[in-house]
Amino acid sequence: MNRNHEPWDSGRSGLGLTALVVDDDEGTRLLLRSVVEQLGYHVVEAVDGKEALAAFVKNAPQLIVMDVLMPRMDGFQCCQAIRAEPAGSDVPVVLVTGVDDNPSIERAYQVGATDFVRKPINWIILRHRIAFITRANTAFQDLKRSEARLVQAQRLAKLAAWEWHLHRREFEVSQELADLLSLQLRQARLGEDEFWSTVPETMRERLAPTLIDALRDQRGFSVDFRLIRDKRERIIHAEGEFVSFAGGVPEAMHCIMQDVTDQYLAQEEIFRLSHYDWLTGLPNQSLFTEQLRVALLRGKRQGTDIGIIYLGLGRIKAVREAMGPAFADRVVREAALVIQDSLKSMKIGDSARVEIARYGAIEFTIFVDQIECPDPAGSALPFIAQRLLDDLSEPLKVDLHTVPVACSIGIVCAKGGQGEAETLLKYAHVAMNAARAKGERAYEFHSTEIQRQVMERFSLESQLLAAVRQNALSVHFQPQIDIASGTIRGFEALARWQHVDLGMIPPDRFIPIAEESGLILELGEQILVKALTEAKTWPASEDCPILLSVNVSAHQLWSRQFVQLVQRALETSGVTPTSLVLELTESVLIKNLESTLRILHSLKDLGVRLSLDDFGTGFSSMSYFRDLPMDELKIDRSFVKALEPGTRELAIVRSVISLGHNLDLNIVAEGVETEYQLKVLASQGCDSAQGYLISQPMPAAAVGPYVREFEGSAGSSLFG
Ligand code: C2E
Ligand code: CA
Ligand code: CA
Repeated sequence: MNRNHEPWDSGRSGLGLTALVVDDDEGTRLLLRSVVEQLGYHVVEAVDGKEALAAFVKNAPQLIVMDVLMPRMDGFQCCQAIRAEPAGSDVPVVLVTGVDDNPSIERAYQVGATDFVRKPINWIILRHRIAFITRANTAFQDLKRSEARLVQAQRLAKLAAWEWHLHRREFEVSQELADLLSLQLRQARLGEDEFWSTVPETMRERLAPTLIDALRDQRGFSVDFRLIRDKRERIIHAEGEFVSFAGGVPEAMHCIMQDVTDQYLAQEEIFRLSHYDWLTGLPNQSLFTEQLRVALLRGKRQGTDIGIIYLGLGRIKAVREAMGPAFADRVVREAALVIQDSLKSMKIGDSARVEIARYGAIEFTIFVDQIECPDPAGSALPFIAQRLLDDLSEPLKVDLHTVPVACSIGIVCAKGGQGEAETLLKYAHVAMNAARAKGERAYEFHSTEIQRQVMERFSLESQLLAAVRQNALSVHFQPQIDIASGTIRGFEALARWQHVDLGMIPPDRFIPIAEESGLILELGEQILVKALTEAKTWPASEDCPILLSVNVSAHQLWSRQFVQLVQRALETSGVTPTSLVLELTESVLIKNLESTLRILHSLKDLGVRLSLDDFGTGFSSMSYFRDLPMDELKIDRSFVKALEPGTRELAIVRSVISLGHNLDLNIVAEGVETEYQLKVLASQGCDSAQGYLISQPMPAAAVGPYVREFEGSAGSSLFG
């Protein structure tokens, strides 16, 4: 036997296939048994029909080979009885009949036998027949199982099958479909008219034309429609395909229907999550950009203008720091409500469409469709912007707090829908930043000038990065004199950037860029090291060294290991720490007071002096600095400039000097340009002066000769 080609023998006995062999003649039974066993069956024997029935119930065999003529109960009766058993409908039964006994053959089929063999038995034929029956039965069982699985899968997927028989002009409706559509049906087959009058209206409206089109074009279809069931709206998906006759004529359409409400809701939820902001429920950046794109297309078609407003909230960072992120979120949500209410109350045109989005963490964007803006400044846009600014200038009420927020608005107008959505939004953002630079509550139109400045700044930033990396910045020094003695007290180091194309770029332009981009750390360190290296070469007497003042920005002071950096730079250069003055602005000292104090004290421990720069430009009062370990105070040049008899500035300078002296501070006046200013400062007891009157800032190489020459003339020329 070729084991590889006999499927029943490939370990089947191991799988426990059982055959029941029934014959009252022991010899035949043994022979039958050996044939069946060769085919891989485990064999159970019975001697008559009664015993066979009991053995069937007990062993549930997969094959029965049974003689017809037997005592007590013959093979026909037994076969019939087995077929009546719940498990007996499919089991193959082979009956062994007498020779040429045609009535018996007829009877065998009547009682449900699968096949028969005649006596005397041709054992070779018997073996092949049983092999064939086994194979057929296995295939049949597989099919039954897969059908059962299909039915189960359809049930799980809530798939309802139905069929449209074209030639019979009727629909065959499954129970699942009737359940799905809540139909009360007496029979499964419905005439076309009956079918359409039975199904729900929404389905008829959607499906009937679809089926007609599908039939005309001879293609499948796939549609979704809504249905009210149990007072709830359901979404039903239907799709179908034609089954054709051999000649290509459509015979029927196989269709399925499925309740997809849950998938639909899940999809909607996914859409919502990916297109709407969780905090405010407003469209997010991606949805807004898409909406704007569509509006621009329409604007282009109709030749109408679209106004875009970019609104940035201010002070939220401070709120977050003080009250925590959750509270800050509530403030943003409250602001979103104010913006929405404000827009609603404005009644912007009838046909105008207004869309608003949360574009960034603290940024909102708005576009107004169909707005007339031949000249943006003369359109409704500044009116809208001003209203938003006004409404947001009221402090927001969040929990039990009233929170003032700031707000800056950038405006851009897409005339005739011209421009790309992303570009326009970028412009609006640029305009918002320009507005922010104007003050806490301002709006600004985008202009080519603003754009030019932004681009210039952008390119300047990358060039500054290159300059810093190449250590290409230099330091100039401006002298400070001691007013009473007329001697040089020290020099302030000022950063200089000699640009190859643009010439000398003033620090007022590049320092803010360095601060925003974080480059200030590297830049500041380079200036400090260069200045100290230069200072070491200055001619000075041992007992009275010339001081070196270096400007330190907030980022530097709060950067990690700033104190160590200063210490290392002092050690490397060999300059005595008491000769170094670090100039800090008020803004640095106001924030993070505790940790700032710690850093200041560490710097004092090194021995360096601390100076309060630009005094008077901030908000703080003198008493505030009582606790700070300061050595010096620099009166801002805006006060010095306005020093005239009887002015407010004179009164301020006078009280600053006396209060400063009370705190043991050395007072330096900045920006002294005239002898009159110097005389007034001297009369008020100001200690030191710095300004063009004494000298402009000079290159490092000029410092040595300047000091020697100055000492030669002993400062006597100071007062003319
Ligand atoms: P600042 O610290 O107030 O420096 C004094 C500024 O006033 C200098 O401008 C100086 O040239 C200018 N000045 C001096 N005397 C007169 C005068 O009589 N009249 C007028 N109108 N101006 C006078 P500069 O060099 O352009 O520096 C501008 C600012 O840039 C500095 O203001 C300082 O805040 C910043 N800066 C300069 N170098 C550095 C640096 O190395 N690091 C940091 N963080 N900031 C620096
Ligand atoms: Ca300074
Ligand atoms: Ca200053």
